Amino acid sequence: MKHWIFFLALAASAQTADTIYFNAKIVTMWSAKPTAEAVAIRGNKFLAVGSNAEVLKLASPTTKRVDLNGKSVLPGLIDSHVHPIGAALSEQSGPVPVMHSIAEVQAYLKKLAATAPKDKVLFVPKIYSTRLKDRRYPTRFEIDSAAPDHIAMTDNGYASVLNSKALAQLGITRDSPQPANGKIIKDEKGEPTGLILGAPQLLGKYRASRAATDADRLWAIKAMHKKYNEVGFTSVGDRGQGPDGFRAYQQLAKRGELTVRTTVTYLLNAQGKPEDVRREIERIPFVTGFGDDWFRVGPIKTVADGGILIGTAYLREPYGEHTDIYGYKDPDYRGVLSVPRENLVEMARTANRLGWQMTAHTAGSGAIDVLLDAYEEANKDKSIRGRRFTVTHGNFPSEDAVERAAKLGVAFDCQPQWYYFDGPALAPVFGPARMKRFQPLKTMLAKGVVVAGGSDHMIRFDSREAINAYNPFWGMWMTITRQTVTGTPINPDEALTREQALRLWTLNSAYIAFEEDRKGSIEPGKLADLVVISDDFLNCPIDKLKDIEALTTVVDGKVVYSR
Ligand SMILES: [Zn+2]
Repeated sequence: MKHWIFFLALAASAQTADTIYFNAKIVTMWSAKPTAEAVAIRGNKFLAVGSNAEVLKLASPTTKRVDLNGKSVLPGLIDSHVHPIGAALSEQSGPVPVMHSIAEVQAYLKKLAATAPKDKVLFVPKIYSTRLKDRRYPTRFEIDSAAPDHIAMTDNGYASVLNSKALAQLGITRDSPQPANGKIIKDEKGEPTGLILGAPQLLGKYRASRAATDADRLWAIKAMHKKYNEVGFTSVGDRGQGPDGFRAYQQLAKRGELTVRTTVTYLLNAQGKPEDVRREIERIPFVTGFGDDWFRVGPIKTVADGGILIGTAYLREPYGEHTDIYGYKDPDYRGVLSVPRENLVEMARTANRLGWQMTAHTAGSGAIDVLLDAYEEANKDKSIRGRRFTVTHGNFPSEDAVERAAKLGVAFDCQPQWYYFDGPALAPVFGPARMKRFQPLKTMLAKGVVVAGGSDHMIRFDSREAINAYNPFWGMWMTITRQTVTGTPINPDEALTREQALRLWTLNSAYIAFEEDRKGSIEPGKLADLVVISDDFLNCPIDKLKDIEALTTVVDGKVVYSR
């Protein structure tokens, strides 16, 4: 009898909640119960989801009850693709001003030049011609006029404009041969204009002006996580780290100081011979999945081509005649495949054999084809179905690329921010037929391809001024309206429903991290990650969606942000 009473008491206590959020409009993303009024949390998991009456039954005298007065609740949001360490470090010594024109770039350089010692490199990060009003890069002479006495440059990691002093120091002249993996742009007289596409080996020493320390990295992760919590993120995918980055995450996870769960991608340069690539992968002492719910090893990744904003993404066919925005004229140019095909094949086969999930930055249609070829080769050794190999970016997938991806179970990691910000500038370059294939998200989902939503956040803290803007409500609105920065929608027939948009930033981002059984929806047994928001996600007017704000963010059952 005594034992029996003890057992009942234990069972009863096991079912009471630590916290209950009630009187809410909950969008659960749980197919068994898509909407609910209340959710109970016990420890770090959801205990129950349902009506107020059902869930409040689980309250004990010590349960914290939070009356949300009709506010909306979503599952904790997940950005599939961010670079938090680099983003925070970009503003470690102060905000990077937002620049929309060459004149603003010049004004910023002038200001830097006024106080900087003469031996300091003046560096303006993340300048894309597609995002300047001028729709072109500055010339070396425009930079000279703002900063004549310093080495000065604009840069976005893929395209840089150097001033005359920088060109002279690097010995780049009219006689310099073209590098294999990029382009030194020369004017009609054969003189370098200052614009250099790709060719990172030429510019590395300017880009890495000061190497980040371990302390910098820890600071950066914590600072960025705070901002991510403020917009409702409870998980992200860090899409590229080496050993230093992995150690930083591991250290913060051990100290219990992460506030955003992170799946960390291992970045490989995949150069050399195919067997070098194989050996490099074999030397990494872990594979995808190692870790815990705070810090987990994600896929292995390489950067296989350039960018669509730079005119170096590797296309199926030449860019064509309308490439003024990129600063070059070369009707036969198809962009750069920066990793040889045979290396991608070896990487995919090795990843498949060892248990890695694989992805590659493939911005152009041609690069997607090569990556899918590599995945098909690996699939011949052993099926990659269920291994969730991924295409990163994949902005212009052809119809047959989508079919092949669906057949292989290959997922996409897409950034709708690119067509919002860059679509209007790219339309004249690509022309109407190719623009039809710019992120055909609805078609991809209909074909059974899992598309994860993310931003590719690289620079700045602010969620809307960042490059790329990582505000998830704005991002979801872009997929629902297909709007662009100029107010002209692109491929409105590819618009997603609100439920589909939310799926991109929840279950689908969880899926590409093999975590959809643990997060991405509000359902009993899953990790207690949620966000209380400022408007009714399913019913508010469409244009209000982009202005939604997170009011309270809960990770692992604990409030990490409250407005
Ligand atoms: Zn990225």
